[in-house]
Amino acid sequence: MCVPGCQEAVRAALTRRGFFRGAAAAGFAATAVAPAEAAPKPAPARFKGVVDLTHTMSPDFPTFFGVPGIELQKQFDIKKDGFNLNWWRIIEHAGTHIDAPIHFAENGETLEKIPAESLVTPLAVIDVRAAAAKNPDYQVSRQDLTDWEKKNRRLPDRCCVAMLSGWGAHVGDEAKYTGASGGTFHFPGFSGEAAEWLMKERSVLGIAVDTLSLDHGPSKDFRVHRSWLPSGRWGVENVANLDKVPSNGATLVAGAAKVKDATGGPVRLIALV
Ligand SMILES: [Zn+2]
Repeated sequence: MCVPGCQEAVRAALTRRGFFRGAAAAGFAATAVAPAEAAPKPAPARFKGVVDLTHTMSPDFPTFFGVPGIELQKQFDIKKDGFNLNWWRIIEHAGTHIDAPIHFAENGETLEKIPAESLVTPLAVIDVRAAAAKNPDYQVSRQDLTDWEKKNRRLPDRCCVAMLSGWGAHVGDEAKYTGASGGTFHFPGFSGEAAEWLMKERSVLGIAVDTLSLDHGPSKDFRVHRSWLPSGRWGVENVANLDKVPSNGATLVAGAAKVKDATGGPVRLIALV
């Protein structure tokens, strides 16, 4: 016999355990289910550690536009107002951030429309540090992707492919990070051929780079942006700590801001390893 409110309480508890749906589908009345049957489902992915792939954002962080990517204005102060609160003014595409399809596609998806399940992916890290150290304009090639597959496995379905160029270490040195000289940037990125191969031959949701742009610095036609984003896929730029995750086997969580009509935005990028 249930006192008033009991059924609701049981239902709420079972729903919390992710059980109610299954029980209801199996034809059980919520009140008839013994607690022992409400075993939690195993977690979908096991992991031992968490690696933060996000750079700290500040007005000093180098941007593509040469102006601060964020400004903080203290609007309330705890001594005067009883609490602290800043107002932010940000560039959507600055710091560790995500590019939504609409960034380079007239009718592409805006940021809030990227489904959460597309932002949790297997992570494949392509290490091109040796080549990038010799050539700051290096572009990830088809061969780099083939080499990764030879060493590891076929690129997993619905994965994110990330370029590790070593540029993340230069983020405190704007001149080195942007490589700007005579109006041209110099830093590594993906080649158009590699991006197109990933789109046509493999199942990839996103690409990520530890530099300012998916396209390498000298690019004027933004070929990778122009083909990758309109295909409905996303990109992440200014990734940190890619040298601290395995080249194969990590899970990426791209916690993108959910802002209506945004073309991109800050992301807390996390690898589960
Ligand atoms: Zn961007």
